[in-house]
This record gives sequence, C-alpha cells and structure tokens, in this order.
Amino acid sequence: MFGRAPKKSDNTRYYEILGVPKSASQDELKKAYRKAAIKNHPDKGGDPEKFKELAQAYEVLSDSEKREIYDQYGEDALKEGMGGGGGSFHNPFEIFESFFGGGFGGGSSRGRRQKRGEDVVHTLKVSLEDLYNGTSKKLSLSRNVLCPKCKGKGSKSGASGRCSGCQGSGMKVSIRQLGPGMIQQMQHMCPECRGSGEVISEKDRCGQCKGEKVVQEKKVLEVHVDKGMQHGQKIVFQGDADEAPDTITGDIVFVLQLKDHSKFKRKHDDLYVEHSLSLTEALCGFQFALTHLDGRQLLIKSNPGEIVKPGQYKAINDEGMPHHQRPFMRGKLYIHFNVDFPETLSPDQCRNLEKILPPRPGNQLTDMELDECEETTLHDVNIEEEMRRKQQQQQQEAYDEDDEASGPRVQCAQQ
Ligand SMILES: [Zn+2]
Ligand SMILES: [Zn+2]
Repeated sequence: MFGRAPKKSDNTRYYEILGVPKSASQDELKKAYRKAAIKNHPDKGGDPEKFKELAQAYEVLSDSEKREIYDQYGEDALKEGMGGGGGSFHNPFEIFESFFGGGFGGGSSRGRRQKRGEDVVHTLKVSLEDLYNGTSKKLSLSRNVLCPKCKGKGSKSGASGRCSGCQGSGMKVSIRQLGPGMIQQMQHMCPECRGSGEVISEKDRCGQCKGEKVVQEKKVLEVHVDKGMQHGQKIVFQGDADEAPDTITGDIVFVLQLKDHSKFKRKHDDLYVEHSLSLTEALCGFQFALTHLDGRQLLIKSNPGEIVKPGQYKAINDEGMPHHQRPFMRGKLYIHFNVDFPETLSPDQCRNLEKILPPRPGNQLTDMELDECEETTLHDVNIEEEMRRKQQQQQQEAYDEDDEASGPRVQCAQQ
C-alpha cells in the first residue's frame, strides 16, 4: 500500500499516450480520448494493446484524484494504490462504453458493469420410462424480474440518482500522505449507496418494488425430456434465471437425475434385466413375458433342447434404450439368467436323476485311497461378505504400518 519514491519520467507517459499537454483540461482529455479510442477500437481493426493503454491513461487522467497522484508520484504509486500488481484497471471496453453510452459528466470514469447473472441449477428426477418414451414436465418456478412499473430503475421519476458520496462509482478512495514521496491510498465500498453507485430518495422510491428494482414472478416452464437422454444431461433455458439491473440474465439449467428402476438397469444405450429360472426351466426350456418400459409384452423363450447355465447372458437386439437424437436406433436388451436349484433331493429322486443324467466321472476313489485321506467338513459361506471383511482388515493393517513407519522418523527429528 505504500508508494515508492517518485521517478520523474513516470508521470508523462499517460499524457503522451493521449497526445495532450500536461496542462490539458478535462475537455481536451475527453476529445483526445474519444478520437483515439474510436480509431483504435479492436472491433474496427485497431490494436487492442493501444486501445487498452488509451483506456488506462484516460481512466487515470479523467479522475481528478488519480490525476493528482499520477502528476505527483507517477504510475507506480497508482498501481499500488489500486490494489497491487498493476492489474486492477477497469476493462477498457467498459470505459469505452461508459464514455459513449453513459455521458461525460461526473468525473468518474467507472462504467456500469454488464455482469452475467448466475445460472440457476435444478435437478429433475426422471424415471427410466421417461427416458425411454420421452416426456414433458411442467414446472412452476418463482424468479426475480425487473420491476415492470419502474422498468428496473427503482424510482418513480425514472431517475437513477448518482450517489454523491462516490460519484456513482460505488467505491471511495482515501489518500494519506505518510511522508515525502510516501502515500497511502485505500479503496473501500461507499457506505452511502452500499457499493451500488446510486441512491434513490425515500419519496421517489417505486411503489411496486420498494426501490428494489426487481419483483418476484411465477413462471411455468415446460421441460421436454427427449427419448434416450442420459442421467446427468442438462436441459438449458437460456436467460430465464433471475433478472437484475445491468445484468445479463443467467440460465435455468435442469440436470436430469435418473431414479433407480426396480427391474431394468441402463448402461449407455443398453438395458439389463435379471431373470431367475427354475432348474427345470434351465434344463428343459422356458418361456415368459417381460413387460417393457413402454408397456409392450415381450415373449422371451428358449430354443428347443437348449440349456441355460447360471450367470449366463443372452441379448435381444433393438430392445434397449433409444439413442438420443436418433431414437429409431436402439441398443440391446441383455438378460442375465440366474438358476434356482432345489435345496435338497431325496435318495429316491437322486436315483431317478442318475438314470437320466450323464454318468459320474470314472475316476472314483478306491477303498485303499480313501484310507489315506483325511476327513474334512464343508460349511456354507457368504463369500462376498468374507471378501469385504478381509479387504477391510488389510486396509487397517496397511494403515497401522504407515503409522509405525512414520513414528520413528518423527522421534529422530526430535532428538
Ligand atoms: Zn456511493
Ligand atoms: Zn419498481
């Protein structure tokens, strides 16, 4: 925040850029900037660097406080005062626009910022049926719009009163001289207008928005969910978010969130469904009806003589999800078969089955071999549960080891 000792050569460059003498009046400065800025505007093929320099020079020299600092202490003092790094000049286009759009008066060169309003993001829950068939949902939202009575001015008279405390800039600059060649310059928000740059007198305040410039409005949006859209996909309503003065209205964005389906799972354009067969069906054939996401009944049946094994997949072409934007193209419908085996069989059933099924393997153990074997017991396990527990145990051990490894090092450092 402290200015450096002045260098004499520092404080003429801005005058040279604008091509005016050091004694130039505000009027002469304006004329010089106007002519040069139009000539060098990048939209008309001018040099952007030159355009930026012109804006900086004009920004400083048109502000009597800044000009005084510049004349006395040069560029560096200003840059430091403006928040360090020298990068806190205003956008040259803003200065240009405020010059040509916002008139000449006031002495402040700060333009009104056309900032971009925030986007409003909602999640929109959809079912797999919605994404398969396409749907549209009507949603009622409330949002801020510019007050229709005062057209976003906030006042009855339509006047936006420039704050006298800060000349409409929203910021106040205070300068203190700390010694020869040492100044302190501080920038803070104007307390009178709370940084907005304008004040509306109590009497002049708009009756509808109470000077807030915006009012709430209910709006019904119809959101079209296309066939084949994906979880996480965005549907954008451009410029439908909250309105605010001098702000480009942001978008309302709906992010699709797919609800879990009780039967189908989706992967890209494919669908997956689980189906359990009895052992008899798996061995001797099956047929069943599957209700699809659009309500159609699909008849699903095995080929004659075909056996389905546990865990086997089969697929039906073109019965998966429609492809977004090409809904006539569809993915596959995969069926994952589970086979329900009977829990037990009676000795009688076993004998009957052995008659039908392929014979046992020939390598039966002899009595001699049996004598040399040790007896064991097989018991039931929940393999997923056991794997999970073992993994947890390993992680805990690795963590404990890490702790031990870093322990002695710390002790060494302390000795
Ligand atoms: Zn103010
Ligand atoms: Zn109003």
